[in-house]
Amino acid sequence: MKWSESHIYTLKEAPSDAEIPSHILMVRGGLIKKLAPGIYTYGPLALRSLRKLENIIREELDKAGCTEILMPMVQPRELWEETNRWQEMGDGLLKFQNRNGHDFCLGATHEEVVTDYARKDIKSYRDLPRTLYQIQTKFRDEIRPRFGLMRGREFLMKDAYSFDESKEKAMESYERLKQAYINIFSRVGVDFRMVKADSGNIGGNLSEEFHVLADSGEDHLLVSESGDYAANAEVCPAKDFETIYSQEKELSLEKFETKGCRTIKELSSFLKCAESSLVKTLFFTGVDMPEANRALKDLKPFAVLLRGSDEVNLIKLKNLLGFANPPQMLSDSEVKELTGASPGSCGPVGLQIPIYADTALETLNNIIVGANQDDYHLRNVNYPRDFKVSQFVDIRVAKEGDKNPVGDGKLRSFRGIEVGHIFYLGTKYSKAMNANFLDNNGKSNPLEMGCYGIGVSRTLQAAIEQNNDKDGMIWVKSIAPYKVHICCLDPGDDTVWNETQRIYSDLESKGIDCLVDDRAERPGVKFKDADLLGMPLRITIGGKGLKNNEIEVTKRSDKETVKLAPEGVVQYVEEFYR
Ligand code: ATP
Ligand code: MG
Repeated sequence: MKWSESHIYTLKEAPSDAEIPSHILMVRGGLIKKLAPGIYTYGPLALRSLRKLENIIREELDKAGCTEILMPMVQPRELWEETNRWQEMGDGLLKFQNRNGHDFCLGATHEEVVTDYARKDIKSYRDLPRTLYQIQTKFRDEIRPRFGLMRGREFLMKDAYSFDESKEKAMESYERLKQAYINIFSRVGVDFRMVKADSGNIGGNLSEEFHVLADSGEDHLLVSESGDYAANAEVCPAKDFETIYSQEKELSLEKFETKGCRTIKELSSFLKCAESSLVKTLFFTGVDMPEANRALKDLKPFAVLLRGSDEVNLIKLKNLLGFANPPQMLSDSEVKELTGASPGSCGPVGLQIPIYADTALETLNNIIVGANQDDYHLRNVNYPRDFKVSQFVDIRVAKEGDKNPVGDGKLRSFRGIEVGHIFYLGTKYSKAMNANFLDNNGKSNPLEMGCYGIGVSRTLQAAIEQNNDKDGMIWVKSIAPYKVHICCLDPGDDTVWNETQRIYSDLESKGIDCLVDDRAERPGVKFKDADLLGMPLRITIGGKGLKNNEIEVTKRSDKETVKLAPEGVVQYVEEFYR
């Protein structure tokens, strides 16, 4: 493709709303252009990459016995009511009415639609196993779309759904798809990890995520030093590497003044003690109501006790209490109404609501907590003498240095970008939607299901996030928009242009796609753009070089340049890609 005939516009300046390298570079390279928050047009370069990525995905899924279909994006309310997710999905599901007043939503995920499709066709065990997939635009009305394609509102997803006759067979499908995912991300050539994950509101109870490792990743991953365990911090069991015990015998309760101490940090410096020796009390509700029009009595509030140095894990809380979504914190005024004190001075003593205490508190006594009176705390507080607990349970976020929950050694912490997610669903959707089949005894059973997503547009950007430098993107070979970027320095000179065309068509005929910069621009401008756009190889063809019978080929990754005779160029490129 000639640059002059394409639609590529690069920018010198970084856009003001872009925070991470890949977002800045994609906008600067003209790969994406924002239409509205979280909604982008893919330019020609991005689209070529997406198509290459889609093809890798298609090839591996087809190899794994999956079948491609394409489902509607506009979906009727009735279908989502069958699984109760019209409500459960909350405002992430974009809902609207047509001219007849019928409710619809834009597809955020397709469990309902695919289950409906399957129940119409799959009647017998002879139709099984079946795995259907599609590559399609999804819409989720994300609260904070950001980082370009990383968290878009409209984005491209590959979603697959497996149907089987038994749990055992469903697990086989799960393993088959897991292997396909490992193949896909290995072929793409990104550094990724597979980790245990939460099932979110998709349902089911076994799920794993695939993450591209990157410092800007939104997800916190914990991986054991020995490599035998990896999980999203959302679900990683928290175990101290060494358990901390308070040895003291129980002392008598004392109230003392802590004026001006609002946070654990302020309290710990006031009392000259470690944050880990203080206990914080947090208040939540599982009732999903906007803060503006709710009353405390409707909220069924509960309290959570943690060491001052620990962080509450909302996913563990959600799963513990069987909520569809993570609980919300009470507002300061709700806490005051409930306890008589502001959040910084609250504690468990005297509370008449359920209290969940983190397991780390089981071995501590004579603890310090808020007194439920502003500017006062209590010391020497002891369980069960001074307060009740509904359950001691692991509800903190595990962290680097914690004990490997399944073996020896410690956990190490990484940041990851979630690019894939696989779930075993069981019969959650088939039971709710009456998707049944007859087994070989003629008995009707609900279909066993699994579902499998890849964020296609997110993966594209994640590959750039993992591979770039100060000058621009560095494409992985597999999904680079073009394999070769040819800088023709003197397109007006017949010798140079003829040689450019010869190399170009030679490479294209060997399946090596090239972008030819044929613009009447200075070499410096062309080189800057080539670095920014980051194709793995750059070929520089100019009058001066040709006079010496030389053409330069530069690797984008380390900028290593070789000077080759014109006849050797095509072979060099072929070898690079072999
Ligand atoms: P996240 O936790 O990042 O919000 P999710 O767990 O809600 O994602 P899934 O329902 O598992 O997402 O969707 C499958 C895949 O689709 C994800 O693994 C991710 O790669 C991609 N994806 C999800 N939401 C977005 C988004 N807003 N923008 C781009 N890709 C997304
Ligand atoms: Mg997910």
